Amino acid sequence: MPRDPRYDILFEPVKIGPLTAKNRFYQPPHCNGMGELRPHMHAAMRRMKAEGGWAVINTEHCSISPTDDLLGEIVQTLWDDGDIPNLALMADAVHEHGALAGIQLAHSSYASANRVSREPGFGPDDRPIDAYDPVQHRAMDKDDIRALLRQQAKATQRAKTAGFDIINVDVNFTTTAVRFLSPRNRRHDEYGGSLENRARLLKELIEVTREAAGPELAVTVRLIVEELQGETGLQAAVDGVRVVELLDDYVDLWDLIVGTWKDDSLTSRFSSEANHEEYIKQFRAVTKKPIVGVGRFTSPDTMVSQIKRGVLDMIGATRPSIADPFIPNKIDEGRTEDIRECIGCNICVSTHRTMAPIRCTQNPTMGEEWRKGWHPEKMSPSGSDDNVLVVGAGPAGLECARALGARGYQVALAEATRELGGRVHNEARLPGLAEWGRVRDWRVTQLDKLSTVDVYRESDLKVAQILEFGFSHIVIATGAQWRKDGYGRANNDPIRGTQNAAHVYSPDDLMSGTVPQGPIVVFDDDHYYMGNVLAEKLAKAGAAVTLVTPAAEISAFSHYTLESDRVIARMLECGIEMITNHNLVEVEHDEITLAQIHSGALTKLTAASVVMVTARRPNDSLYKELKARPTDLSAAGIRSVTAIGDCYAPSAIAHAVYAGHRYAQELDVAESDRLFRRDRPLVGQL
Ligand code: ADP
Ligand code: SF4
Repeated sequence: MPRDPRYDILFEPVKIGPLTAKNRFYQPPHCNGMGELRPHMHAAMRRMKAEGGWAVINTEHCSISPTDDLLGEIVQTLWDDGDIPNLALMADAVHEHGALAGIQLAHSSYASANRVSREPGFGPDDRPIDAYDPVQHRAMDKDDIRALLRQQAKATQRAKTAGFDIINVDVNFTTTAVRFLSPRNRRHDEYGGSLENRARLLKELIEVTREAAGPELAVTVRLIVEELQGETGLQAAVDGVRVVELLDDYVDLWDLIVGTWKDDSLTSRFSSEANHEEYIKQFRAVTKKPIVGVGRFTSPDTMVSQIKRGVLDMIGATRPSIADPFIPNKIDEGRTEDIRECIGCNICVSTHRTMAPIRCTQNPTMGEEWRKGWHPEKMSPSGSDDNVLVVGAGPAGLECARALGARGYQVALAEATRELGGRVHNEARLPGLAEWGRVRDWRVTQLDKLSTVDVYRESDLKVAQILEFGFSHIVIATGAQWRKDGYGRANNDPIRGTQNAAHVYSPDDLMSGTVPQGPIVVFDDDHYYMGNVLAEKLAKAGAAVTLVTPAAEISAFSHYTLESDRVIARMLECGIEMITNHNLVEVEHDEITLAQIHSGALTKLTAASVVMVTARRPNDSLYKELKARPTDLSAAGIRSVTAIGDCYAPSAIAHAVYAGHRYAQELDVAESDRLFRRDRPLVGQL
């Protein structure tokens, strides 16, 4: 299909200093758990985005010196020439598809204890680092400033040798540059006080970068313009615009951001698309240079609106490019309905923060481009004429059927209920999770286009029917159910008093419409979103709610998705009482008993209802019954029965989508032919 002319503006070239970006699609720097440790995986992931049509592809934080050692995070380094080949791999990969390669040169202060390099860190002032290590960074003297500028110049030369086109001077929330720029700077010399003084280090960093880069490379700045700290920090309307005015002549493009990572990458539960506009829109008036900004842009109409109204010149899109590396090409080819829209869950962020290679709920191939050779848009043709029955249309079953159908297999997808989507259908109706429905919607749209897949709703399949159908392969994707007995991480046996207790509910009960009587205790031993989202739902319906967890913090996993602070604020807004470090040990008719985790001290709490969010039981009876009948299976011509997703191992939605995709990728591929390549340091490479 030809491109919709309304979107032509997105494909106009943009001048970035001496260079020209072929269109307005810009992948800003983003961490990914690959960095210097997994260079092949990293280069292949970036290559995929270049193939998908992005004009500019950046690295993540690339540290210029051992005095900036962010470990435990995995980032890039350009500490010496030995780092050049790994980064050259990425620059070359990006160039293969006509994109410009950008590198984010960064030096941080107060962001880490330099645990690996053991170098004392520095910044504008003597102060403790932000993490709780017993470490302070010291105030930089003039020698330190000169050393930093030399390291910036050296790293720029190395980046140039590696083949990068764009050198991005990072003024992100961790950086030394922003800590000087911010009103939090307490220096009294020419690097502190007035804005001109606070901006001096940044100006010098840009100057040495420009000089080392030479006239053929572009120099851009990723700048926090609003620290969201009121008068204590940078404010867009006060200092933000003045910094841009002051340094505009030195910069080829401004990549403008807001707050720290948790504000820059807000989840869909807490914000919608284009959420930074109120801060960024005032910058057009003060710069002659192109502006990039982010806002989880997945809609081409929103993108066009940003450009036409002069808010942005290039569309910065990180998570959208993770969920769908082919957004630009799909818009270009008139296939906007094929865009696999990011759901704003931040599972991608959580993997980086747990030092694992990036993964994505929507895009199961993300991070597997090199390791497994997976491509988000292309799959190998079917390896046989076998047909496949997929039982259950949750995220695992939907993705499995879609990907098998895309390979050319004949597939029947049977779903017990009228609705497709399984858990996603239910969870997307919980407060703030509507965008999660995109996991279902994209797959249903794709299934409609596949002549190879037949979908049967209201088909609650039993063993006898499956044996009669005569499919070659059976995939069981029947999901899981929440337990009501409290068994889970903190309780190795059912909690006393839960047997046959009518006032004890599971998340499944609530999602199917049951309304418990208040006061309600939600016991969260799951530690992700379900406990606090249900607490919010119940409180909004008017009940008095107490959220109890055995963990030291509410919704501990949300720390990795950058949501912790906002989850707690939401609980407070809703009037939900929160009790941490307490296990639930007994449920009685109208009260419960809690045990303090460290002391064991018991307390009683009034509760008319209890909601258990602890663990799930796989719905694996169909799978087990089939597996127990090998003779009947072979008589029916069934060659394999496989359980996938939550019915195999209940986990997050991302795991279920991945399991469905993996089954489809691997069908008829011999185990010995399945790629699982590993990036590893090689002996002899110093
Ligand atoms: P997953 O996350 O692994 O995809 P879900 O719980 O989201 O699991 O989805 C499982 C789906 O399987 C649900 O939509 C459920 O209705 C369906 N299902 C369960 N048992 C059967 C069955 N016997 N026949 C057909 N569909 C089933
Ligand atoms: Fe978007 Fe979630 Fe994928 Fe991240 S993991 S890109 S937030 S869908």
